[in-house]
Amino acid sequence: MNIDYFSQIELQCHCGCGESNMNADFMQKLIALRQHLDFPLCLTSAYRCAKHNQAVSTSGGTGPHTTGRAVDILIHGEKAFMLITVAKQFGFTGIGLKQHGSHVQRYVHLDDLTTMATITRPMVWTYA
Ligand SMILES: [Zn+2]
Repeated sequence: MNIDYFSQIELQCHCGCGESNMNADFMQKLIALRQHLDFPLCLTSAYRCAKHNQAVSTSGGTGPHTTGRAVDILIHGEKAFMLITVAKQFGFTGIGLKQHGSHVQRYVHLDDLTTMATITRPMVWTYA
C-alpha cells in the first residue's frame, strides 16, 4: 500500500495501542484525493481500535474509523472547500464537518461507507 503521503503515526490508533488497520480501498481513494488536491493533508485521526472509538465517538465500538474507512483531516477555509467539492468524485460518501472554534480544531471527516442497517449514505453532518 502506497502511504507515502501519510505517516504511520497519523494512520495508527492514538490510544497508545499502536494498531493500524486502514482499509486498502479507502487508502487508494485518499491517496487519489491527495494527489488531485496537491497540498498536504494532515490527519488528526485515522484508524481507531474499538475501545478508543468507544471513548471518543458517538459511533461506539463499530464506527467507520474502526474498519479503517475514515479519516479526520485538519483543514479549514478555502482548502476545506476544495476538499469537499471533489470528495464525491473520489468515492467518499460521508462528510462530517467541524468548522468552528480555533483553526487547529477545524477538521473534515471523510469516509466511504455504504448504507447499512444503522448508517445512511451519502450523508453530510456537523459536529458540536
Ligand atoms: Zn487503540
